Amino acid sequence: MAPGAGASRSEVNPVDIRYSLSPDSDPGTEMVLLQGRGCFWKKCSFCDYYFDSACDEQSVPLNESVLAHVTGETGRLTVINSGSWFELPEQTRELILRICREKEISELSTETHWAYAQRTRKLREELAAAGIRLSARIGIETFNADYREDVMIKGIGKDVTPEQIAEIYDECCLLYGMEGQTEKQLRSDIETALQLFRRVYLNLYMGGGGRYPEDTQLTKDFRKRLVPEFRDTDKYPGLVVLADNTDLDVG
Ligand code: SF4
Repeated sequence: MAPGAGASRSEVNPVDIRYSLSPDSDPGTEMVLLQGRGCFWKKCSFCDYYFDSACDEQSVPLNESVLAHVTGETGRLTVINSGSWFELPEQTRELILRICREKEISELSTETHWAYAQRTRKLREELAAAGIRLSARIGIETFNADYREDVMIKGIGKDVTPEQIAEIYDECCLLYGMEGQTEKQLRSDIETALQLFRRVYLNLYMGGGGRYPEDTQLTKDFRKRLVPEFRDTDKYPGLVVLADNTDLDVG
């Protein structure tokens, strides 16, 4: 999801990097990478993509130009915005819901931080009343709460259980490849996530702009040995492996 690879944004048509139809890694959805006001948290030690933010005067027209390409043909729309749904401008959020109604999109998938859990619960009720099913997504990264909170600085809290998160969220993201992570923990994370969540997005850490070092042995081994295993959808139904920034065809 991290933007920034390749040509600079000013040289690229925003739609080319911000709209995708049925990416190979996650077929059956239209996907848009929109711009919001910026993540309120900005502390996660692996994150550099919250820089993709702007004032409403800039982001509203950009988002409109991207959303104009949504056709509704898959019946599902995934909205990503380098932050939480609630950090998109109101105008953009209203437009998305209008497009969902007009194009008969029955499922809206979007991400929020745990700090917005109660607002996410309310959003689900509001969308349900409009005939739209919310697939709420959250970045959990790992169920090792000490590592998640002390090293990743995720801001969920150590006392929150996976089951409590799954009461509100349908989809979760995991992250692998930072120094200090282990394959054993990853396997345990995947098992827990697949038991509790409908879709699980496994992101490979690519160091880069993050403030925390990548374990290059882990990431090399992941690409070579684990990607083919985890992409076996019979063995891991619901697991989406994202081993490159471009695997979602946006960003
Ligand atoms: S909550 Fe998301 S956008 Fe914000 S700092 Fe963490 S990973 Fe980055």
